[in-house]
Amino acid sequence: MDQILPVILLKGLILLPNEEVKIELNNKISKDVTSLATKHYNREVLVITPINNLEETPEVSDLPSYGVIAKIKSRIELPSTNVRITLKGLDRVKILKFNNNKNHPDILEAHFTKIELPQLDEIEYIAIIQKLKDLTNEFVNKSPQISNSILNTINTIDDLSTLTDTICSFIPLSFQKKLSYVAEINAIYRAKNLIKELKIELEILKLDDKLEEELTSSLEQNQKEFILKEKIKAIEKELGEYNEPTKDYLTKLDSLKLPKKTYQKIFNEIEKLAYTTDISPEQAMIRNYLDWILNLPWQKETFENNNLTDIKNKLDATHFGLEEIKTRILEYVALKNNNPDLKSPIICLVGPPGTGKTSIAKNIAQALNREFYKISVGGLNDTSELMGHKRTYMGSSPGKIIQGLRKCHSKNPLMLIDEVDKITINYQDDPSSCLLEILDREQNTEFMDNYLEEPFDLSKIFFILTANNLDNIPEALQNRLEIINVSSYTNYEKIALAKKYLIPKILEENNIDNKIISISDEMFNYLIDAYTNEAGVRELRLVLEKIIRKIVLLGLQNNRTKISKIKLKEFLGIPKYEKIINKKYDYAGRINALGISGYGGLIIPVEACIFEGKGQIILTGMLGKVMEESTKVALDYIKSHQKEFHLLDFFFNLKDIHIHFLEGATKKDGPSAGMAITTCLLSLLLNKKINNTYAFTGEITLTGEILKVGGLKAKIIGAYNNNIKRIYIPEANREDLDEIPDAIKEELEIILVKNYNEIFPELFAN
Ligand code: ADP
Repeated sequence: MDQILPVILLKGLILLPNEEVKIELNNKISKDVTSLATKHYNREVLVITPINNLEETPEVSDLPSYGVIAKIKSRIELPSTNVRITLKGLDRVKILKFNNNKNHPDILEAHFTKIELPQLDEIEYIAIIQKLKDLTNEFVNKSPQISNSILNTINTIDDLSTLTDTICSFIPLSFQKKLSYVAEINAIYRAKNLIKELKIELEILKLDDKLEEELTSSLEQNQKEFILKEKIKAIEKELGEYNEPTKDYLTKLDSLKLPKKTYQKIFNEIEKLAYTTDISPEQAMIRNYLDWILNLPWQKETFENNNLTDIKNKLDATHFGLEEIKTRILEYVALKNNNPDLKSPIICLVGPPGTGKTSIAKNIAQALNREFYKISVGGLNDTSELMGHKRTYMGSSPGKIIQGLRKCHSKNPLMLIDEVDKITINYQDDPSSCLLEILDREQNTEFMDNYLEEPFDLSKIFFILTANNLDNIPEALQNRLEIINVSSYTNYEKIALAKKYLIPKILEENNIDNKIISISDEMFNYLIDAYTNEAGVRELRLVLEKIIRKIVLLGLQNNRTKISKIKLKEFLGIPKYEKIINKKYDYAGRINALGISGYGGLIIPVEACIFEGKGQIILTGMLGKVMEESTKVALDYIKSHQKEFHLLDFFFNLKDIHIHFLEGATKKDGPSAGMAITTCLLSLLLNKKINNTYAFTGEITLTGEILKVGGLKAKIIGAYNNNIKRIYIPEANREDLDEIPDAIKEELEIILVKNYNEIFPELFAN
């Protein structure tokens, strides 16, 4: 049978059957509803919760088709004009339709019917009730926030519908879920869902417990440790002594005579160590730190040799030439003998590989009676390699400078910083900038390594740096350095060096006391040309070692083996390098240019050919942009001087010219091939051969002027080593000739050129 009740809309609030809520009403309609219900409907209203609780004034069509009859248990008019009511949910009902109250059109009324509950299986019914009660008991007992008194009510309910609604009123459910409970008329379904919900809640509680347990146990451990440490502290205070390792550190610290601040810092660390436990990671970190800082040569120095003759003998005994660096060392010692406070120079040896930079540095250390330590910085891209890692990083340690000092056990070693031109500088880090700090004589008395965090005096270190190419050293760093150039060796020098130093050294290292090879200068020359290709003598040393090994292996060491080409082939295999000059290239359009590579000076042959075309120029041989441009300059210089060069009949616009630079695998750039290219083109166009023993270097302008070039010394030595007999170089380079050994100047004809027109007549005379 249909019933009618005025409707009260409770936004965001759900009232379940058997549940009681206290609410304060402030809107007029709701207040009117309650007074109407009190007067005419036996204090009953129909409570409806709009599904969308964000909607300010919901439409009737948006309202759900179910509601809960509620009894107004109390109604109090408050002084603020609000009305406070207590509602108790009675029954879920199905709404049939809504209409407005005839007398109070603002009030909504609902026609509804009681829900006929489906028939339930009795056993299932009882079983579900029991299960629900068990789970609820477990849940309430485990939830500290829910009072156990609720269980008294729960345990006395025998009606499934009442039971589910009661449970639903206190377990944590989302608004939407609770709403769907109101809507669900079948108590069995509600019960099943609740069982699932309670199980989830119980799992959550279990997980909470586990976390809680873990947290408490770790707290307990910390507390235990803290209490123990406090106890140890108290005992130590009582006894006035530290444990054994701590004592050792203290004894060491006292023996070091450190600055007060550093002493205090180390002392604090030792004290910290006394209060850490054996297993704590902090202890390992403090010990590591103390082992580093207490084992540094804070005061220890070796006694520097100041005997000039002795030093000179020692340097000459092991190294050929290298006069500039040897003299600089002797100067330093002489000056220091006058002024003991003199700081050592910071020298940078610049030159091709294998020219003895590293080995002379080692030898200088020996001669001066300083320890030697080498730091390779080639490819280094991380400042902390030199400056150390902060102690907070696991496994951190000091940088290479401090590491070297500890290894040397003295604060005045000779440190070789190798390959400074190959430090990698990127946008993140610039290790060369920290070299500035390390090498700065003003600052490095207080060098601060990131790991040590205490200043250490580096001013007693003798620094020698090496580099292959000065251009790659940042200018700020260059300014700190005394640059000493170490140049390529001529064959003549290599032979002397091998005879006097390399061969005796190899024999000595292998315990061979008789001279087992005999090699003429001519054969040595051949050996160097055919089996090595370098500015220094590293390859030569390896080749000589190989020859000596072979002689020993063949049991020939008791006689002097005379080295011949055939023997070399037997010991070393077929020649690896063939000097370009040894072949006859006597055709027009081929000349030799002088070039330079990381390995010193070299000969770059240039070839050109001409064919029918449209005035194009083709360039090959791995050329850089500057070199391409200088080729165009050379060609246009010729075009604009066609008359002087007897080329008036030549039509450039009907021909294509291809110029190729040999040694194609090596990248070539720079303007210095201008004079060579001009000569090559003229040789081709005039069909005149150029002598194969001539070579050229010099930048050319559009007027034929020959401009200064770089690396002349290396180029001249390269030319000489490649059997070149005459070279054409810029007049502007004249002063560079002072550096060229006389032996070379005697054998090599050097022509100085101001303008190309000076050499044209002679080169291309009929
Ligand atoms: P770099 O450091 O310049 O690359 P190294 O010092 O490693 O060259 O020298 C390579 C080898 O050549 C070493 O065995 C070295 O003893 C030898 N060497 C180079 N130059 C000389 C020299 N002037 N006198 C004696 N030996 C030399």
